[in-house]
Amino acid sequence: MRARIYPLALGKIIKHALEDLEMEVAGLLIGKYLKKSDILEIWDAITGDQKATPGFVYLEEDTIAAAAEWVLRNRPGLYIVGWYHSHPGFSIFLSAIDIETQKLYQRMFPKAVALVVDPMRYAETRRLQDLKFSVFRIDKKGKVVRVAVTIGIQRRKLLESTLRGVETMDLRYIGGRRAPRREGVFEPGSYGVDRLADSLSSILKKFRDRVGQQSRE
Ligand SMILES: [Zn+2]
Repeated sequence: MRARIYPLALGKIIKHALEDLEMEVAGLLIGKYLKKSDILEIWDAITGDQKATPGFVYLEEDTIAAAAEWVLRNRPGLYIVGWYHSHPGFSIFLSAIDIETQKLYQRMFPKAVALVVDPMRYAETRRLQDLKFSVFRIDKKGKVVRVAVTIGIQRRKLLESTLRGVETMDLRYIGGRRAPRREGVFEPGSYGVDRLADSLSSILKKFRDRVGQQSRE
């Protein structure tokens, strides 16, 4: 599988990552999977309430649930196809906890990807070659693999993804407060993978129920 990201989606992710060079930031990728060509398209990015440390970030359950509902209602034909987060100044990889998180996203959507961006160099130079980001997946053996990613240039989709994406430029915090919640900053390790798994699996259930309802309608 390859990935294709449209410019506004990438721009929104970079903008978000540049907003905080001390804490990680995270959000969700919206797009679709093209079965014929085995390409995952990323059309848009949204975010919401999250808890962050310099080395870990967690999107709140309510945020993901609200985003999933919002996408179902407002973006017909598009889905949450993964998540993004920043590693300010500590390069591009999936940490042990990122791997667990990614497995949950792949359980929710089998083609889901994790986009990781390190905005630090780019923040200093604003040179495109200093913009470091990669897209990852977990393969069947449980190993992290990089997904080749290109920038979408197809004219119609470029325009369509831009038109949809600008609608959420100011509504980036779907279903929550507009500013990242800072008083909830917590220590690494105080939020276990188990609890994360629990909350994501309950979202997964809600999400499936909604999709089930929609397909019956
Ligand atoms: Zn990470």
